[in-house]
Amino acid sequence: MSSGPTIGRRPQDEIVTLKHGAGGRAMRTLIEETLAAGFIEGDGGAIGLAAFDDGAALPIGDRWLVVTTDSHVIQPIFFPGGDIGRLAIAGTVNDLAVMGATEVLGLTSAVVIEEGFLRSDLERIQRSMQETCHEAKAKIITGDTKVMGHGELDGVIINTTGVALADSVVSDSGLSPGDRIILSGPIGDHGIALMAARRGLGLEGELRSDVAPINGLIRGALDAGGDAIVAMKDPTRGGLASALTEMAEKSRVGIVIDEAEVPISTAVRSAAEVLGLDPFHIANEGKAVIGVRPEAAQATLDALRSHPQGADAAVIGTCLEEHAGRLILDTGFGRRLLTEPEGEPLPRIC
Ligand code: MG
Repeated sequence: MSSGPTIGRRPQDEIVTLKHGAGGRAMRTLIEETLAAGFIEGDGGAIGLAAFDDGAALPIGDRWLVVTTDSHVIQPIFFPGGDIGRLAIAGTVNDLAVMGATEVLGLTSAVVIEEGFLRSDLERIQRSMQETCHEAKAKIITGDTKVMGHGELDGVIINTTGVALADSVVSDSGLSPGDRIILSGPIGDHGIALMAARRGLGLEGELRSDVAPINGLIRGALDAGGDAIVAMKDPTRGGLASALTEMAEKSRVGIVIDEAEVPISTAVRSAAEVLGLDPFHIANEGKAVIGVRPEAAQATLDALRSHPQGADAAVIGTCLEEHAGRLILDTGFGRRLLTEPEGEPLPRIC
């Protein structure tokens, strides 16, 4: 008797589903119970796997070695505003940057390719990675290549790991009541551009992914805000709602967001409506959420706005003592709880 796949007969909680890759609560629970089980926080204030931060931070002398890794599985591989190569560099550079590590020491690149993949596409991805590295002042210093059989994966998967040294690290859990929340620019562009391209909405001219390295932008904010910048995160999978919920839970504060202050382009707003998606749940690949003490909020905002990538930056919210762990949306007409997406509205997004 052959023991064929039994997935179809297994209860949902015994198998991994796409919702476990969505960047929200289901994914965090799965990781806590399986992949991260038994890994505890390091000594000496190190930030390790159990912190579920954007990367790890290890003390080296009086500095910090920041390390992060990310596998990129986007579909389509070439999309309006970018491609998997640009994403693979920007994603890792940005995870380092929101830990406070804006000068990249080096990146690794591990590429798994499906048999039959076009060599010209691989060259195009490589050129894109090189250009993005140039923008981020980063270099790929080592790598790995594997080829798998036709149908064993869909096209190409790129894993990048980044390392950087930082004088001080910024976690995603340092918020206190009264702190301001700054968003570096409009939300929803990446996920909505991807989804519009997949569905052939014909809006490709207007909708473009925001995928870009933002370590230069973050450096400017850190120089202006200094120690008053107490938390940062990039709102990727799960969107702004997931990133802020995670920050609120870890910091044990409530966060109230002023909806009118959240920048969203008209094109994203209308496409999201057509697609039935909430821009607050949609992945971004060139944005940061910055938590800052109130006295430094204006200086941080000014620094962001003086950078071309931060022209639309805005103070979008305030941290509260009450409603700890909750994200509240002030619509101007009333307040409601803003939850993170439980499932995955957009699989294969980053
Ligand atoms: Mg991140």
